[in-house]
Amino acid sequence: MKYYMPVRLYDENNCVQNHADEIAALGKKALIVTGKRSAFSNGSFDDVAAVLKERKIDFEVFSDVEENPSTDTVFAAGNKYRKDNIDFVIGIGGGSPMDAAKAIALVLKHPEADLDYLYDKTKDPSALPIVCVPTTCGTGSEVTGVSVLTRHDKKTKISMVHKVFPDLALIDGKYLKGASHTLIVNSSVDALSHLYESVLNAKADDYVRMTADAGLRAWARIKDVLTGDREADKADPGLLMRSSALAGMSIAQSGTSLPHALSYVITYDCGLAHGRAVGYFLPGFMEAAPKEERDRLLHLSGFDGPDDFRSFINKVFGGFDIPDEELAKTFEAVKNNQAKMRSASFDVDEAILKKIVYGKKK
Ligand code: NAP
Ligand code: FE
Repeated sequence: MKYYMPVRLYDENNCVQNHADEIAALGKKALIVTGKRSAFSNGSFDDVAAVLKERKIDFEVFSDVEENPSTDTVFAAGNKYRKDNIDFVIGIGGGSPMDAAKAIALVLKHPEADLDYLYDKTKDPSALPIVCVPTTCGTGSEVTGVSVLTRHDKKTKISMVHKVFPDLALIDGKYLKGASHTLIVNSSVDALSHLYESVLNAKADDYVRMTADAGLRAWARIKDVLTGDREADKADPGLLMRSSALAGMSIAQSGTSLPHALSYVITYDCGLAHGRAVGYFLPGFMEAAPKEERDRLLHLSGFDGPDDFRSFINKVFGGFDIPDEELAKTFEAVKNNQAKMRSASFDVDEAILKKIVYGKKK
């Protein structure tokens, strides 16, 4: 067994201000990587910029990261700042800017890098130091080495092969204030899928179960807020962020499984948010899993069983409208991918995959 999580993580109020010393220790010039808007309205950018100014650390801002960031965006940033003597990169936002920040930190460290570099295991995977400040509660990217990138040349999303972990993760629930209910639902279901898929995974072990079980217990406490059956309270943003980080620690060990693998084509072709796309496949995946472990996970996260879970997914997403030809397309792609087919902790053949893809429809 191996447990590798080389990220220094802090999870507290005023986290960015509290850890100014550790940010400042990373160098004299930073590149801040964000999405187009949210970091500038939820307070996260201002907090980071204030620390950098106070410590007299020069910085550039790249705020062009789109949802489901593309390799084109990574190289746009890489080309723009290659000559700027950047010492470290700060990713602020959801999974999209954090994932982009990892790939940009790799490209800035290796100015010769091209697209193939990101997907060539023989290349040096070292990157500039990275700080991540999450502002959604789903991906756990702040504690994983994964960078999921859109490949327009392949019309899907493919993770970079290199594992690039942040050095510092600064987690503060206050940045969720102002996030829409839809965003909270999408990202919380993404976190839940990480918790389930990491345990129902061929690579799961006791260390994965340790973090996943803790994440599921935290997640169970916010479940009723997602359905609207309970008003949100002060503790919820912290719990949401914590369950997401624990989920990230779990997938950092074992990776994800079929719901994630099946989701990427749907996100690319139909523009479905990541959490919603994964959420579509999750009930079928749970129904296919061995009963004992499946029910243990469902109970830990507050569900009576698979039917209760399917109702929850339908309730929070209000149903799905994914064209059958898209389902057929992702079914074919994953069916022919042996690594993905073997990623679950249980045997998956074509018939089982079909049930996961079509749920109770077929
Ligand atoms: P996201 O794509 O980063 O952001 C979604 C939307 O939410 C954007 O419009 C963003 O606005 C907005 N937003 C972010 N924080 C906000 C806040 N606090 N308040 C209001 N709006 C906010 O969403 P995500 O679900 O976190 O990330 C999804 C990406 O992560 C996908 O590409 C997925 O494949 C990847 N992922 C990575 C891992 C990993 O281990 N690395 C794991 C799972 C998923 P702005 O654009 O203006 O910022
Ligand atoms: Fe995910």
